Amino acid sequence: MRVMVTGAAGFLGSHLCDRLLAEGHEVIGLDNLITGNIRNIEHLSGNPNFRFVKHDVTEYIFLSGPLDALLHFASPASPIDYLELPIQTLKVGALGTHKALGLAREKKARFLLASSSEVYGDPLVHPQKEDYWGNVNPIGPRGVYDEAKRFGEAIAMAYHRSHGVDTKIVRIFNTYGPRMRAKDGRVVPAFITQALAGQPLTVFGDGKQTRSFCFVDDLIEGIYRLLLSDLNEPCNVGNPHEMTVLQFAEAIIELTGSKSTIIHQPLPTDDPKVRQPDIAHAKRALGWEPRVPLEEGLRKTIAWFQEAGF
Ligand code: UDP
Repeated sequence: MRVMVTGAAGFLGSHLCDRLLAEGHEVIGLDNLITGNIRNIEHLSGNPNFRFVKHDVTEYIFLSGPLDALLHFASPASPIDYLELPIQTLKVGALGTHKALGLAREKKARFLLASSSEVYGDPLVHPQKEDYWGNVNPIGPRGVYDEAKRFGEAIAMAYHRSHGVDTKIVRIFNTYGPRMRAKDGRVVPAFITQALAGQPLTVFGDGKQTRSFCFVDDLIEGIYRLLLSDLNEPCNVGNPHEMTVLQFAEAIIELTGSKSTIIHQPLPTDDPKVRQPDIAHAKRALGWEPRVPLEEGLRKTIAWFQEAGF
């Protein structure tokens, strides 16, 4: 296949490019590099099947020749980024998804949207199943991301229903692994870099809020299967192994062998109290479930942060 990946220099986008190339596909990677890092795809330069184009996908995307699949992964992706880049976050989810769908329609390419567990907001149903409509504060600081992803899903389904575009929507839950940005403020890079530096781990609130962490290789496998599937409606992909943020901090301290302590800082506005994917749909429809245990994934991630010099 000839495939386009938007957000190709990001954490997930770059892993996706690696996987698509390993499967023998030709990949065109787009990124405007506002939160992506060219170093994530440096190893692909010189690969005849890979081309990088620096482009903001909220602007018209021109591509000559055929296209078989388009995966729209461009977006700021951490709560700190949404606070700093609220307009860009809304634009890439709305205008960027529109441009990407327009190109997919024109080229008769299948389209996969990187959506998010944030469409469930601060969920009142637990664990979260695809048929739950969510509990989102549309005007809060996180709302720019949540609503952008919700709009993205809505327009993807509209292009599917009105124009027959073969759309897929993956609802991605917390994912971790090599190439996360050290300072993106998310809990995994924050705790690992703090532990490695011997600084206190900053637990927000009482740390009783829960998350469920998926190793990036598992996530990419699920997304690749979804891309090849005939599903058109949203599908959760994540690891149901749920834990509190406090337990997560303790696990990081143990795995790094750090002497760091834990301090508490204020909980950000609208921080979801619980989050855990129900993956029955992915299991049934894709034959997918995560395989990498938390400890194994975290060891690999910690080793990467160490090698990268954090
Ligand atoms: N968190 C924390 N300390 C940090 C960063 C995050 O306690 O230094 C908490 C955050 O409040 C949230 C959870 O960890 O409850 C996961 O946060 P993250 O930003 O990684 O992603 P989210 O799941 O909220 O989108």
